[in-house]
Amino acid sequence: MIHYHISIENPHRHFISFEAKIPCQGKKTLRLCLASWRPGRYELGNFSKNIKSWNVQDGNVNLAFRKINKDCWEVDCDGCDEITLTYQYYAAELNAGSSYLDTEQLYINPVNCFFYVEDGLDLPYQLKFHLPDDYRMATGLGAISEHVRTAKNFDDLADCPLVASNSLKEITYTSKDVLFHIWIQGDLKIDEERLLKEFLSFSDAHFDIFGSIPCDEYHFLFHFPPYFIRHGVEHHNSTVIAMGPAADFQGESQFKDLLAISCHELFHTWNVKCIRPVEMLPYDFSKENYSRSGYVYEGVTNLLR
Ligand SMILES: [Zn+2]
Repeated sequence: MIHYHISIENPHRHFISFEAKIPCQGKKTLRLCLASWRPGRYELGNFSKNIKSWNVQDGNVNLAFRKINKDCWEVDCDGCDEITLTYQYYAAELNAGSSYLDTEQLYINPVNCFFYVEDGLDLPYQLKFHLPDDYRMATGLGAISEHVRTAKNFDDLADCPLVASNSLKEITYTSKDVLFHIWIQGDLKIDEERLLKEFLSFSDAHFDIFGSIPCDEYHFLFHFPPYFIRHGVEHHNSTVIAMGPAADFQGESQFKDLLAISCHELFHTWNVKCIRPVEMLPYDFSKENYSRSGYVYEGVTNLLR
């Protein structure tokens, strides 16, 4: 298992601090990698440009390492049981696929900033977040407690974004015995009764098409910043949707826009996350994944808006 500690000492500087304890499993060298791209965007992400103060130690002893390409570091770990990786990630961009930290929230897309072992993608993860006690967390990750989360492997981790803050608002509803969470970060004024009715209606409609949903619970993670943005990214048991300005959502067209993008991202739970182009089965995070079937996974999904 890879044990991560995540902390936010100076949130106004936008740097998230990471410490990872990684088992060496008898190897002389380990290759530690960031994903080159993220599902939903399907282009090179260059996430490593946001990495600072990268170091790796055996106890208190620094280990030799070398960067072998844009997002992979090779570490000499001969004779080590476990190594400790530390680094910081600059999280200053808020969209549906990025990571962002300030004094009000921690928002992470793990595919941006968590490392995997090159031939250890199946290793499970435990994540301990060092956050203010009153921070709640919105995410599809497994839970040991509010601030201690788990992922079955890197694929699971990479596909579970999270938002943590003391101002998260949660609304829930149940469609066909499945619990849906609507998490709202931002100062949104909206007709909640109508929102709930519409979400229940389109969720029921998805069950009418597919019969069941391939997850136990589903999370809508909404960012409503005070500036213009329209962006959504799908995941297997959640979606992140960034829409703004937050003050506009009492208007009819913005409300319908919100429903349309929410419906689109939920439909992706089946069309692209489950029914996936064969070129992306499994995901290869080390390089770009080309596909000619965008008109199926985006085009067909768009028809349902
Ligand atoms: Zn889409």
